[in-house]
Amino acid sequence: MGHRPYIVGNWKMNGTRNSLAEARAIDRVASKWPQVRVGIAPPHTLIHAMRDAVDSIDVGGQDCHSETDGAYTGDISAAMLKDAGASFAILGHSERRQYHGETNPQVKAKCEAALGAGLSVILCVGETEEQRDSGEAESTVSGQLTSCLPEIAVEEEGESVSARLAIAYEPIWAIGTGRVPSLDEIKAMHASIRAKLVDTFGENGNEVRILYGGSVKADNALEILSCDEVGGALVGGASLTNESFGAIIIAA
Ligand code: PGA
Repeated sequence: MGHRPYIVGNWKMNGTRNSLAEARAIDRVASKWPQVRVGIAPPHTLIHAMRDAVDSIDVGGQDCHSETDGAYTGDISAAMLKDAGASFAILGHSERRQYHGETNPQVKAKCEAALGAGLSVILCVGETEEQRDSGEAESTVSGQLTSCLPEIAVEEEGESVSARLAIAYEPIWAIGTGRVPSLDEIKAMHASIRAKLVDTFGENGNEVRILYGGSVKADNALEILSCDEVGGALVGGASLTNESFGAIIIAA
C-alpha cells in the first residue's frame, strides 16, 4: 500500500465563516505533518472560503448530484463542487441515505458523476446494529459495494482512476455514539472490502484506499489506524476543532 494515512473531517451541518479560524489552525498542524494527508469537507457554503484559507489540506463536499445541471432546486453538481475549490466528495453517507432517502443506484450515479468531473470520491458504506448482531455485517457491506461501486475505466490516459476512489467503512451504530467495533471486527471488515475491490477492479483494487469512520477520537485513532488495510479515518464530531482534529492528525 505505502499510502500516507488520510485523515478526513466531515463537518456535516456545522460551521460558518467564524469556523475558518479552526480550519486555519488545523491547516497549520497539517503543514507540520506532511506524512499525513488531511482533508476537510465543510458545508457547501464554506468550500470556497476554506479553499482560500488553507494550504496543506484538501477541501471537499459532503454530497453532489448525479446530473451535470438542470432543474434540481437546492442541489449541487460535481462540476460546481470542483469550481468552488473542492477536490473530493463524500458520497453515500448514512445520514444522506437515512434523511434524504438516497439509494444505492443513486449513490453509484453520484460516484460516477464525481469521478467524471475529476473529483476524488469517498464512498461510504456500513451496516446497522441489527445487521451486525445477526452476523450480516460483511454481507451487507459487500452488497452495498456491489450496488454502489462506480463502473469506471480504471486507467484513463495513463491516470489511474481507482486511486481517486476511497471507501469509508462506517458502521451506522458507531457514528456519533462513542462506540467502535473491536479491532478484530475492523480488520475483518477491511479485509473483506479489499477482497471485494480486487474482485471488482483487479490489481487496481489495491489502489483504493479504505478509511474507517465512526467515533474516531484522538485516544483511539492510533490503534484503529494500525489495523491492516485501514488507510485513514473519516472523522465527524472530533473534526470540528483543532484541539481534537489536530490531535488525531498528530496521532496518525
Ligand atoms: P463521528 O462521525 O466521528 O462523529 O462518529 C463520523 C461520520 O459520520 O463520518
